Amino acid sequence: MGAFETPESCRKWKEEFELACPVIPDAEGTLFRQLTNGWVPCNILVGRDGKVLFSENEFDDAGYSTAIAGLYSAPAKAQPEPESGERPIRRASPSAAARIVILGAGVGGVVAAHHLRQRLPRQHRIIVIDRSSDHLFSPSLLWLMVGNRRADQIRRPLTRLAGNGIEFHHDEVAAIDLDRRLVRTRSNAFSFDYLIVSLGARLAPETVEGFDEMAHNLYSLEGCERIRAALETFPGGTIAVLVAALPFKCPAAPYEAAFLVEALCRTKHIRDKTEIHIFTPEHQPMPIAGSAMGDAITAMIHARGIHYHPLYTFQELRPDTREIVSSDGRSERVDLLLGVPPHQAPEVVRSAGLLGVSGWIHVDATTLRAGHDGVFAIGDVTSIRLPGGKMLPKAGVFAHHQAEVVADVIASEIRGTESRASFNGKGYCWIELGDGKAGFASGRFYAEPDPEVRMFHPGRFWHWGKVAFEKWWLRHWL
Ligand SMILES: Cc1cc2nc3c(=O)[nH]c(=O)nc-3n(C[C@H](O)[C@H](O)[C@H](O)COP(=O)(O)OP(=O)(O)OC[C@H]3O[C@@H](n4cnc5c(N)ncnc54)[C@H](O)[C@@H]3O)c2cc1C
Repeated sequence: MGAFETPESCRKWKEEFELACPVIPDAEGTLFRQLTNGWVPCNILVGRDGKVLFSENEFDDAGYSTAIAGLYSAPAKAQPEPESGERPIRRASPSAAARIVILGAGVGGVVAAHHLRQRLPRQHRIIVIDRSSDHLFSPSLLWLMVGNRRADQIRRPLTRLAGNGIEFHHDEVAAIDLDRRLVRTRSNAFSFDYLIVSLGARLAPETVEGFDEMAHNLYSLEGCERIRAALETFPGGTIAVLVAALPFKCPAAPYEAAFLVEALCRTKHIRDKTEIHIFTPEHQPMPIAGSAMGDAITAMIHARGIHYHPLYTFQELRPDTREIVSSDGRSERVDLLLGVPPHQAPEVVRSAGLLGVSGWIHVDATTLRAGHDGVFAIGDVTSIRLPGGKMLPKAGVFAHHQAEVVADVIASEIRGTESRASFNGKGYCWIELGDGKAGFASGRFYAEPDPEVRMFHPGRFWHWGKVAFEKWWLRHWL
């Protein structure tokens, strides 16, 4: 139970929901800190031997029910390790002409394709499939939202991959048949020796009633273009950033969005007529990065007069009255709503039977193997449990480095050599603050017992670092 509960409220909960299990308060937040990402809601199933069998930050009924069924149907020692992606692997023999199929041409897919091409001679085919014709540099969506970028400046046609000896197919992945080692698309079928799944996280605004009527999707190009248009004529009022559910990609993005909008309102001389709010289920900004980082960003939020609502359990949108409502019945009227919709694994991954109980693909933390011979998964579609039991955040920097590792492992296997590449959980991110300034944080997420993340002093230098990275990314890969 949450930190706000008392023994009495726990007793009432137990009675009301006719629960057979003990319900206890966690007044000091001890269990919360030990077992969660610092996010609510969080469901954790602990086995008879005290080991965590299942943990998730969303209401994944299917996963939770499966884990509970497993607990009751099997003896304690036979419980599966939910985060282990390793199953017995049939080793692919070094192939004279291998076919490597990469699903998704976002961050992970594009990097993996290039690294494979650099390492393998041309007789080995590298096939990339994406439903989108363009690669979009998502971090720049936030600049686009405040009028500092146009769409054509932050996306590139994926047909450019062909110039590097990579086959690109603009197509929808419809099915992954792991037994036949075949990927079916709307118009084709591709057999593979190696498969890299980098399909990202699907945004699911349709799961929030009224989202399309009331909110603009902060995580999509169309949504950010609509936000920019709305901000251009915004006369003043209440602007809110709402994180509807957990997990979500790029833990910094909702905060960056609020900072950039706040700075824009000052430039437009409407700041004194505008309230800015952030509503999030997290207990602090970027909780996985630890309390020092959370405190630093919270201080920046307060310094800018932004209203911060952590531990916000979002319930519903009421487009008629333009209200957002929390589960405890509080409602707030909002004129302009920037929404981070719930994230899900793509359906094609679910139907392939690749998902673990977390609702994402469980992979080996260092090799990114997904439990089937020659099959790897990288990026946002995966779930990796960190040494302390928390989950690796979903971010492009991890998809990027995982892609390098997987490419090295596959290329080495094909060449019959041994790869020393191993994903080490290191990552970094810029945090845009507005006014041409940014912060920068970098860390070791596989550190024990908890990730070690360091934040560097914010300034113009880091903002220009992010601009330089954007230019490099778009020129280097496409
Ligand atoms: C506003 C914003 C700001 C961000 N800022 C940062 C940042 O500063 N730093 C950072 O590290 N990360 C950032 N991120 C997160 C980063 O973009 C993602 O973590 C990263 O793109 C994940 O890479 P991926 O390869 O796993 O998935 P993606 O890059 O999402 O690629 C998945 C691809 O799969 C394709 N696809 C999906 N389903 C199908 C299908 N059935 N058939 C065919 N194709 C399909 C999609 O079209 C897509 O191209 C940001 C994200 C957003 C939205």
